[in-house]
Amino acid sequence: QVDVIAIDGPVASGKGSVSSGVAKALDFHVLDSGALYRLTALACMNQCVDLSDAAAAEKVAQSLNPLFKDGKIYLEGKEVTDAIRTEEVGLNASKIAAYPGVRKALFELQRRSAVAPGLVADGRDMGSVVFPEARLKIFLTASAESRAKRRYNQLKEKGISSNIDDLVSDLKDRDRRDMERSVAPLKPAEGARILDSSGLTLQETIDLVLAWYRE
Ligand code: C5P
Repeated sequence: QVDVIAIDGPVASGKGSVSSGVAKALDFHVLDSGALYRLTALACMNQCVDLSDAAAAEKVAQSLNPLFKDGKIYLEGKEVTDAIRTEEVGLNASKIAAYPGVRKALFELQRRSAVAPGLVADGRDMGSVVFPEARLKIFLTASAESRAKRRYNQLKEKGISSNIDDLVSDLKDRDRRDMERSVAPLKPAEGARILDSSGLTLQETIDLVLAWYRE
C-alpha cells in the first residue's frame, strides 16, 4: 500500500495548488477528484441529460472514460481542460455529486490512482470515504472572502472578468450544498488536521503540509 495524503476542503480553498505543490515536492501523483465530478457534469450536459435525473447521471458516471495526460484532460477524445473549469460546470458538478450512485461509480476510478510512489488526493471526501487509510489527512479552509478573491484572480489570469460578490454567493451556495447533502457531506475526516490558509502564502501552506507529512 502506498502513502496517500488526503487534502479536503471547500471550494477555492487552494486545494488544487497545495496538492500539486506537495506532490511535486514528494514526486507523488495527484488525484483531482473534483475534475471527475466536473467531467461527469460536462458529459451530462453534452448528452443533454437532465441533471435532476439521478439514475441518468449515474449511468453517465459509470461509462465515464476520461484521459489525463501531460496536464491536460480529455473526454471522448476532445480536450476539455478549460471547459470543465467554468462556474456553470462547477455548479452542475455539485448537483450530480449529491447522488449516491454517481459517487459510487466514481469510487473505483479514484481508488485506482493510489499507485507508487504515492498520491496526493484532492477533494471533499478523500480522507473520510475514498482513502480512509491515508497517512495524512488535511482539511484545508480559508474565509469565504479570501477564497472568492483567489477565484477572482484565477479567472482574471485567464482573461475572464467576474464580480467578487457573485463569486462569494456562488461559493457559499456550493459549500452549503456540499455540507448539507446526505451522502459524503463536506466535513473534516476523522483524524484530519485543520489548516486555515487565510493568512498564509501558497508556499507556507505547502511547507506546513510537508512538515506534517514528515513528522
Ligand atoms: O473541487 P471542485 O470545485 O473542482 O469540485 C467540483 C464539485 O464536485 C464540488 O463542488 C463538489 O460538489 C464535488 N466534489 C465532491 N467530492 C469530491 C470532489 C468534488 O463532491 N471528492
